[in-house]
Amino acid sequence: MLKNMTIRNKITLWFSLSLILLVLVTYFIVSYVSKNVMIKNLQDNLVETVLHNMRGLEFIDSEDNLQIGQTSLAYNDGFIVIDEDFLDIVNGVYTALYNQDNKMIYGEDPIAKQSFVVDFTNDQIKELSIDGTKHYIYDIDVSETGYEGLWMRGIVPETSGLVYAGDIRSTAMIVLPLMAILSIIGGYIIVNRSLKPIKDVTNAASSIEASGDLRQRVDVGNGKDEAHELAYTFNSMLNRLEDSFERQKQFTSDASHELRTPTSVILAQSDFYLEEERSTEEYVKALTVINRQGQKMKELINSMLDISRLEIKPENYVKEKLNLSNTVGEAVQGLDKIDHDGITLDVSIGNSIYIEGNKELISRLVINLLTNAYKYGKTNGNIWLNLTHSQGRAILSVKDDGIGIANSDKNKIFRRFYQADSSRRNTGTGLGLSMVKEIADYHNAIIKVESKLGEGSEFIVSFKLI
Ligand code: ADP
Repeated sequence: MLKNMTIRNKITLWFSLSLILLVLVTYFIVSYVSKNVMIKNLQDNLVETVLHNMRGLEFIDSEDNLQIGQTSLAYNDGFIVIDEDFLDIVNGVYTALYNQDNKMIYGEDPIAKQSFVVDFTNDQIKELSIDGTKHYIYDIDVSETGYEGLWMRGIVPETSGLVYAGDIRSTAMIVLPLMAILSIIGGYIIVNRSLKPIKDVTNAASSIEASGDLRQRVDVGNGKDEAHELAYTFNSMLNRLEDSFERQKQFTSDASHELRTPTSVILAQSDFYLEEERSTEEYVKALTVINRQGQKMKELINSMLDISRLEIKPENYVKEKLNLSNTVGEAVQGLDKIDHDGITLDVSIGNSIYIEGNKELISRLVINLLTNAYKYGKTNGNIWLNLTHSQGRAILSVKDDGIGIANSDKNKIFRRFYQADSSRRNTGTGLGLSMVKEIADYHNAIIKVESKLGEGSEFIVSFKLI
């Protein structure tokens, strides 16, 4: 049954049961302690009253020694003078004097009235139940020479103390459950409020599941507890999901768009030249166009595949201790085939610079940056490739004195398919720099562009050294 309960109900149930148990235990402890304290008080009071009254007794031989107004009792040959502050009944304690025949000669005694006979024992508290009411009895032997057999007895019924204990008990009986009820209500409200973000997350998740709409968010408010933390995390997870979903959608749409142009050109060319018999030169011309567009498609598809591979399965690109100096050097060597356009490449590579990286990806990064430097460089211009290290970082710079990049384009060039100069659209895919960025991110590297339109550009990538 517990399994099917909501957390809120479980906590509330546990909390309520514990509180009820606590109230019961507290109630019994209060009852027990208050009764014991009461009995102790009652007995102390009994002894105290009897001793007080005993101190108030005086023994005289002759009535002549009596002062006016004094109460006296004849006993054997003498007299007992009773002090005026002798307390017959005080705080429920009865006090009485008994003679040698066990007969009450002064005071009040509820037991004697009911003709119960209790033997006298000096300085001891005895218990006696009369009609179901417990009584405490305390005797003191006050005999003196000539006054033998004289006893003073104090009696107190338990009921006179029970009134106070009863008061404490009935107060506890009202206050404790009241406090428990208030705590349970307060606890329920707090639990309910605290768990609200979890409920909201569940609602949002099921609504997203039903509608597929990733734009929904949980209204978190400004709480800081664990449940709010969950809601914040859920929201930021949705942000990332939505972002990557959007990027994916955008990528697919851009890719289709990019592939449509060469496909249309190929189809148009082939349709046109298939309409009627053509000369060999015309076929060659058409095939050249078709071949160029095919090349472009191949480039696009390869780049897209590379990007997706890195995105979908980065674990395929294992990072290890990599000699960056060698890797960059080899990548530069591999660029021989490029149409150099009279551009001079100046390479300066510091020795033995090590980073943690993937050789294949780092080569790709260097090749992409260099290819761009050639592509967007000026005829007979210069490219400077420089690899150094400074302050714990390896710094790779690829600089050219080519066409440069407008300020407004600097942030956009890393976007997929973005090409700053639309007149050069035939020369690339718009995916080279986005691959560079993905690779840099994968290596936790920082990438920066410094460029001035018409003067040239510098791409700087810095890696952490190992
Ligand atoms: P593309 O295939 O068009 O070269 P990239 O992603 O490599 O695609 O580059 C995106 C755009 O950034 C290029 O189209 C170009 O406009 C600009 N760009 C990249 N590198 C340079 C550079 N070295 N100099 C000037 N512009 C550059």
